[in-house]
Amino acid sequence: MLRDQSLEEISDGKLYKLSDMARVDSKGCLGCSEVCCKNMADTIVLTPIDVHRLSRDLPISPDQLLERACQIGQVDGLLLPHMKMSKSNNACIFLDAENRCLVHNQRPDVCRLFPLGRLWSDDGDFSYILQKNQCKKHDLVKIRVRDWIGDQGPEYDAYIKQWHRLLKIATKKNEDLIEAGQETKIKVLCKYILKKLYLTPYVGADGETLAEDMDFYTEFKKRIEEIEGRL
Ligand code: SF4
Ligand code: SF4
Repeated sequence: MLRDQSLEEISDGKLYKLSDMARVDSKGCLGCSEVCCKNMADTIVLTPIDVHRLSRDLPISPDQLLERACQIGQVDGLLLPHMKMSKSNNACIFLDAENRCLVHNQRPDVCRLFPLGRLWSDDGDFSYILQKNQCKKHDLVKIRVRDWIGDQGPEYDAYIKQWHRLLKIATKKNEDLIEAGQETKIKVLCKYILKKLYLTPYVGADGETLAEDMDFYTEFKKRIEEIEGRL
C-alpha cells in the first residue's frame, strides 16, 4: 500500500537491506496468536502472485479463492483482494485451531515480511523497515533479513516494483478522472485490472496453471504492459 508517513512514525527509523540483521525472529511464534493473523481487517492485501500461488497449490480457481477466502476492498485507487477474517474469531480464514498458517509455503507477501515492511523511494526502489508496534513477542531474535523473508531473488523484486509502479499510475489516473468529473470510469478501470491481473488464470499454452514463478513473471509483465498502455 502507498503510505504518506515518515520513517520514524512507522518504524524503528532504520532502513534494512537483505544482508542486514534485524530483530524480527519470533522463533516459531510459540505461545503467541495475538496479532498478524487475527483482527487484521482489510490489511492483508494480496498481490497477483499471492493469488496465483494460493489458487495453484490449493488447488482452486482464482475466482473461487477470492470468493471463499478474500474480500475486495479499495486500495490506492484500485479494487484489490485482502484476506477475509472469520466471523467467529476474527482470524484469517487460513489460520487453524492451533494458530498455525495452513498455507505457510504460499503465504502472501505481507505475511512473509511481517513484522518487516517495505518503504518505497520516489525512484521506485525500496528498502525494508521494521514496523513499530507490530509483533507482540518481547524476546525477538536477530536474523538476516534475507533468511527471514525467504529471498525470492531479483525476479521477485522486479515483479514487486512493477506492481508498485502500477499502483502509482492507477492512483494518478483515478485522481485525473475525478478532476475531469469522470468518476464512473474509475469503476470500469478497477474491474478491468482486477480481472486482468487476479481473476484471469495464469496458464500456459496447454491450458495448465503455470507452475514456475519465472513463467508467471513473464506473463505478468505482458499483462502489466497491456494495462499501462491503456492507462
Ligand atoms: S495467510 Fe497465513 S500467515 Fe497470512 S494472515 Fe492468514 S494465517 Fe496468517
Ligand atoms: S505477533 Fe509475532 S509472535 Fe505473535 S503470532 Fe504474530 S509474528 Fe508470531
